[in-house]
Amino acid sequence: MPNIVQYRNKCIGCGICFEMMPGIWRMSKKDGKATLLNGSIKKQASVLPINHSLSENAKKVAKACPVNIIKVNE
Ligand code: SF4
Repeated sequence: MPNIVQYRNKCIGCGICFEMMPGIWRMSKKDGKATLLNGSIKKQASVLPINHSLSENAKKVAKACPVNIIKVNE
């Protein structure tokens, strides 16, 4: 199963990930950063397993993130 990994402390809160995949991300009202819905914290990163059907879109989001803190592991 692919994983989305986000290095959340470096998020600048631009909202692109949320706009592209609103079912996966939300913007925190507390600190303005993007949060992976139902993600878990591993070391410094937030991790969410996703279906293969979502991985192409998730990769597009990873490319679009202006600070390059989203990775998709197959
Ligand atoms: S695209 Fe990147 S910087 Fe922008 S809100 Fe999402 S994780 Fe944060």
